[in-house]
Amino acid sequence: MFSFDSIKKYHAFLAANADGCTTAVNHFLSAIEKGKELNAFTNIYSEEASQRAKELDEKRARNDSVKKLHGVIIAIKDVICYKDHEVTAASGILKGFKSIYNSTAVQRLLDEDAIIIGTCNCDEFAMGSTNENSVYGNVLNAIDTTKVPGGSSGGSAVAVQAGMCMISLGSDTGGSVRQPADFCGIVGIKPTYGRISRYGLIAYASSFDQIGIFANNIEDIETALEVISGPDDFDSTAIQQLPKDNSSDINVNKKYRIAYFKEAIEHPSLDKEISNSIIELLNKLKADGHHVEAVDFNLLEYIVPAYYVLTTAEASSNLSRFDGVRFGHRTKEPVANLADFYKHSRSEGFGKEVQKRILLGTFVLSAGYYDAYYSKAQKVRRMLVDKTIAVFKDFDVIVLPTSPTTAFTIGEKTDDAIAMYLADIYTVFANLTGIPGISVPLFKHSNGLPFGLQAMTNKQDEVTLLQFSKLLMQRYKTYQHLAINE
Ligand code: GLN
Repeated sequence: MFSFDSIKKYHAFLAANADGCTTAVNHFLSAIEKGKELNAFTNIYSEEASQRAKELDEKRARNDSVKKLHGVIIAIKDVICYKDHEVTAASGILKGFKSIYNSTAVQRLLDEDAIIIGTCNCDEFAMGSTNENSVYGNVLNAIDTTKVPGGSSGGSAVAVQAGMCMISLGSDTGGSVRQPADFCGIVGIKPTYGRISRYGLIAYASSFDQIGIFANNIEDIETALEVISGPDDFDSTAIQQLPKDNSSDINVNKKYRIAYFKEAIEHPSLDKEISNSIIELLNKLKADGHHVEAVDFNLLEYIVPAYYVLTTAEASSNLSRFDGVRFGHRTKEPVANLADFYKHSRSEGFGKEVQKRILLGTFVLSAGYYDAYYSKAQKVRRMLVDKTIAVFKDFDVIVLPTSPTTAFTIGEKTDDAIAMYLADIYTVFANLTGIPGISVPLFKHSNGLPFGLQAMTNKQDEVTLLQFSKLLMQRYKTYQHLAINE
């Protein structure tokens, strides 16, 4: 019986098994088949993955040395381009469209001998928090199928959660990797803005978008991040410096300076049991010699509005390319003129949430409203960046909840857009400021669902973020139910 634990152990298994990659691919293909009702995948590359596994098994027989992701089975969110494979952003407007080039992230995975097993379901154009806005239908949380997996990278999260691949890629514009990781009980990282090239990632809001990684443990995140990050001639916003070496082992004696925002922990929307668990954890860290301090943060109420003004503005511009002419869905209705043609093609192709955001973004950018909304939101963004710089002068890490509640029930928030948007309160901060963030699965709620702790470090400091996360996973992971202090 094959079982997957970590890339390291898998590579040890391959060293002892000549047909190890084939065994692994067969295992994951049957897991995908068994979990079909979860609806995590939009395409499954069975034959291709089996063929590649066979080639890698043969390659290993010829040569002992294996590349970093040799035979590692990876699923990618359906917004990441893989040459000659369909990429749809879970939208009717792109159904049937095939990528004409590889995204940099995919190219780097393939260059390290990874096996891509399929593409994952998501919210349309990565807009959503529940994976309920998909042309393929919603994805189910494998722990409790009456719950959402989170979004927008819900399929990628469930693919790892339900053991259908080893690691997966998602994208995180406002929390779309960290929040589904939180809801599914796995690890999800959004690196520093620009750490991973956005070349070949379908754009939602370009100054926020970042590819992220899901895995079961921090070490696998580290390996994948090392492979796919780094400068790229195709993306001028990619960070030019090479990432620091992540591979150093954790220093168990290191004492961290940890900040948390009091307003965030005391926020009325935060589930009591989640806040109690985090407070308890902070007390334990303090008792273990770490410096833990509450920091004032009076901008909390502004971050969700600023996020939705800025991202919809960018989306309205980015999504204008889907015009029914160059690619994607084209209306078959008789049309009177070009404007009518655009109107029909776009109304038929885009789902409701995407249409709403395009309208909102167009509104906040329009003459007369630009200063009232767009400019003001940019100013909030600037203040958040200044605040972040100030906090990291004195601290190594900021911790927050990842989400105010555990996974929502399917349909719970679909009629209340504001409630849905407000649930992004803890994740959008890292995207507005460009800092890296991770959700570490530490806790289990008395309702049976998992939840994580979100940690963030200064820009480009993924090394500290990953080391701190390892410490959390090794020492503070607790699934014990913590009593609610009412
Ligand atoms: N829930 C957020 C939104 O709907 C985050 C999306 C994302 O990170 N792609 O915008």
